[in-house]
Amino acid sequence: MKRLAIIGGGISGLSAAFTLEKHRRAGASLEYVLFESSPRLGGVLVTERVDDCLIEAGPDSFLTEKPWASDLCREVGLSDQLIGSNDADRKTYILVKGRLVLIPDGLMFMVPTKIMPTVLSPLFSVATKLRMAGEWFHPPRKADADETVAAFVERHYGPEMVDRLADPLLSGVYGGEASQLSVRAVLPRFAEMEASHGSLGRAMLAARKRMAQTSKAPAKPLFTSLKDGMQQLVDAVVSRVPVPALRTNTAVQNVQPNREGWTVSADDSNQFDAIIVATPAQTAAALLRTASLELASELGGIQYTSSVTVNLGYDRKVRDALPPGFGFLVPRSEGKCMLAATFVHNKFPHRAPDDRALLRCFVGGARNEQILQTPDEELIRIIREEVHQVIGLMAEPLFTRVYRWRGAMAQYGVGHLERLQRIETRLQQIPGLTLAGNGYRGIGVPDCVRSGTEAAKKALLAVGLSEAAAPVLSHRTPSINCRSPFL
Ligand SMILES: Cc1cc2nc3c(=O)[nH]c(=O)nc-3n(C[C@H](O)[C@H](O)[C@H](O)COP(=O)(O)OP(=O)(O)OC[C@H]3O[C@@H](n4cnc5c(N)ncnc54)[C@H](O)[C@@H]3O)c2cc1C
Repeated sequence: MKRLAIIGGGISGLSAAFTLEKHRRAGASLEYVLFESSPRLGGVLVTERVDDCLIEAGPDSFLTEKPWASDLCREVGLSDQLIGSNDADRKTYILVKGRLVLIPDGLMFMVPTKIMPTVLSPLFSVATKLRMAGEWFHPPRKADADETVAAFVERHYGPEMVDRLADPLLSGVYGGEASQLSVRAVLPRFAEMEASHGSLGRAMLAARKRMAQTSKAPAKPLFTSLKDGMQQLVDAVVSRVPVPALRTNTAVQNVQPNREGWTVSADDSNQFDAIIVATPAQTAAALLRTASLELASELGGIQYTSSVTVNLGYDRKVRDALPPGFGFLVPRSEGKCMLAATFVHNKFPHRAPDDRALLRCFVGGARNEQILQTPDEELIRIIREEVHQVIGLMAEPLFTRVYRWRGAMAQYGVGHLERLQRIETRLQQIPGLTLAGNGYRGIGVPDCVRSGTEAAKKALLAVGLSEAAAPVLSHRTPSINCRSPFL
């Protein structure tokens, strides 16, 4: 009988547990234990019901085009619970000089694919529109080295595009800044497009043409979620794993390799044949210091930022007065605390009854890490003041909820992919150790599900219970993240 340990009970660790459970039920001779430091499982996936509204404390949905989270939902019996975002109302605004301006139709991240809406949009100055036209003639360029998203976008479209679109969109997804994040890790398809076509506009149109020729299927909604919220996924996975395998309130303090495998020290010491570390990379670094200082140092180099969501519930009068669409993004140059706000009642209508409006506002990120220290009342006051300035909303909310996520958002800095290669090399020298989580090849829920699943397969291979497994850290992000998962 082989013994495996999973450290961390977020969606990455739970996906690993579910994969091990499937093998166990299929007859593999194994037992496993999942260690989770907090009293509950699911990590940042938390759903709460307040005043008939469904509030997501962490992620509210995932990108439909990345299949792994939907696949897991189906496997755990939630096929009939999957819902799509209300894309008929999918409008997103950018705050420009204090006013909300609609992102023009056809803009894919920052690449215009329709001429007239972009030409007529007040989102960009004439100078930027001329840069967009000139971008069509950008020569192919095979970059030798990684660079920041800001440098890449600026090369194609100029600094205004960085401030008004690239930076706010990345603040939404990563809580990070375009001037810090790696283009190869965060926007790999764009880097490939530049190498093959030069112009991102021409490459995007060519890709769309190819897709139109090959796929006749109706367009899928941009975001997928679950009727009763993301917590449903956590509950369904947990219900399929035997209770004794789940040890909540049990923080792992150290892991140590030895001749027989690994000793995991938590409340007590346990011996395992292989371990899957599915915590944030910074925690993994601390845990693995005894196993390999070099590996720990690479993992510790992956930075994280914090995120706070402030949720405000209102009555029907407010709902009727709010703009249509999914919400708005706030560029840094606007000088606000808020990074973005989602109009939840529009994005997923049944998450608020017809007589309620639900706003979910994001603060924190690399721009404002210290906001985490601000007390709830003060945070709500700041957000209400900013909401008043942006959309003229002064009404007293019916309820408020604040959720804080310290060090939850991984930042893929310049050189991230090279760092992953070094980590992969180190891992090959340490038998029985695999990693999963949002610190490596994708921060979204689908990527975390994939990383947990692949880590479990690799661990099974390491203990001789499986024949083939995908490399844990070598998966490429297949698609362009053209929208913030928040909007
Ligand atoms: C506010 C917010 C909004 C988001 N919105 C979206 C979205 O809309 N769509 C999307 O796709 N993604 C979104 N994300 C990103 C996504 O939700 C996360 O990247 C993903 O859920 C991370 O899962 P994880 O299991 O890797 O990590 P976590 O959820 O952080 O789980 C790690 C777990 O490890 C445990 N742990 C840590 N140390 C130890 C230890 N020593 N011993 C035992 N256990 C330990 C922690 O308690 C935690 O439960 C959002 C994230 C946040 C914070």
